[in-house]
Amino acid sequence: MSISCPKCGLEVFGPPEREWRFQQYRVSRFRCEHGDKFNLYSGASKTFTIPRSMVEKNECKSCATHNPLEAIYCKNCGTKL
Ligand SMILES: [Zn+2]
Ligand SMILES: [Zn+2]
Repeated sequence: MSISCPKCGLEVFGPPEREWRFQQYRVSRFRCEHGDKFNLYSGASKTFTIPRSMVEKNECKSCATHNPLEAIYCKNCGTKL
């Protein structure tokens, strides 16, 4: 199974920094190559990350403004997204 950083989307390899249990979940703390830290919650019924995956975002490459998913041009600087 592959794990991706919820902040930058980079795939994270290697063992977690630490692991512990939270309620019915096993929690693994990972750190991506960019230094983002996130927790992976693995449970019997679902697996998710905290913070949540930012797959839904539409971030401008030139000014890092968050734009609506349907936006084609950045609302701040007008760069094509
Ligand atoms: Zn990252
Ligand atoms: Zn922009």
